[in-house]
Amino acid sequence: MSAVIIDGRAVAAAVREEVGARARELTESGIRPGLGVVLCGENPASQIYVRNKGKAAEELGLRVDQQTPPGDSSTADIVSVVQRMNDDDGIDGILVQLPLPSQIDPDAVLDVLRPDKDADGLHPLNMGLLAQGAKPPVVACTPAGCMEMLRRYDVPLRGSRAVVVGRSALVGRPMAMLLVNADCTVTMCHSRTVDLPAACREADILIAAIGRAGMITADYVKPGACVVDVGTSRVDGKLRGDVDRESVEPVAGWLTPVPGGVGPMTIAMLMHNTVALCAARRGAGVPASPR
Ligand code: NAP
Repeated sequence: MSAVIIDGRAVAAAVREEVGARARELTESGIRPGLGVVLCGENPASQIYVRNKGKAAEELGLRVDQQTPPGDSSTADIVSVVQRMNDDDGIDGILVQLPLPSQIDPDAVLDVLRPDKDADGLHPLNMGLLAQGAKPPVVACTPAGCMEMLRRYDVPLRGSRAVVVGRSALVGRPMAMLLVNADCTVTMCHSRTVDLPAACREADILIAAIGRAGMITADYVKPGACVVDVGTSRVDGKLRGDVDRESVEPVAGWLTPVPGGVGPMTIAMLMHNTVALCAARRGAGVPASPR
């Protein structure tokens, strides 16, 4: 057996096409969706991510307002940039690129961001709704992108055992909540989990969101499982996932590659969130595209 390789680029292109159609409808009715981007400092990886996100937004016809405060900015400086975007009616989604420089309190910044402009889906209100099992208007982009791939490849969810390795607020926690809301039986693992390979071998769906290149080998994978590789590490200048593809591909039922898996989906879901927030806040009366 060899795993079905889940083509994140193709799924992302399909999502972007749907989002683009919705953005065009809104723009034609006089409401052009806008994305505000805050990039503080000169972290090279963040600069690349922000460039890719801005490019994707412009390709869909969104207005992009990018602010680049210097790396020695204070929490108050970044809070005031976000507050200006909160007050700008033409900005529908605000993305604060993380990580912020260490002197800045990211929670203080997230707290002032309007939940109805929370393009990343990380505001405590939207995360809280997800934790309650309610449907927030937006969901954190990376886990939302993973769910979209699982759905479009018809990976069975209801009643399946899912194991999420990683418990960050950005990926692991919202991922686990989405899976439990989709009727999976979910286990969350982390660096203190005892006998991680045995815990992972229980999984019908295994999500690796760790940040350790190649750590998940075939020993961690139940035959036929769906393995979603969220991790990204640079090794000798190359992008590597958490999954050792060579050993896992012959065992798994489905596998997301790195690159070309979760990464493109994260950007597509950011576009989705921004246009959805625009439609919800300003688009009353503009009919939705059929899906
Ligand atoms: P993070 O905040 O550093 O969290 C990593 C998680 O992995 C933590 O919960 C940590 O456990 C756990 N962990 C670390 N070493 C472990 C080990 N040996 N065994 C078991 N668990 C271990 O990272 P993140 O922000 O969630 O991101 C995770 C990865 O996804 C990174 O590689 C990141 O670059 C990537 N990522 C990719 C995208 C994309 O679009 N492709 C988006 C976001 C993130 P503790 O909590 O116990 O420390």
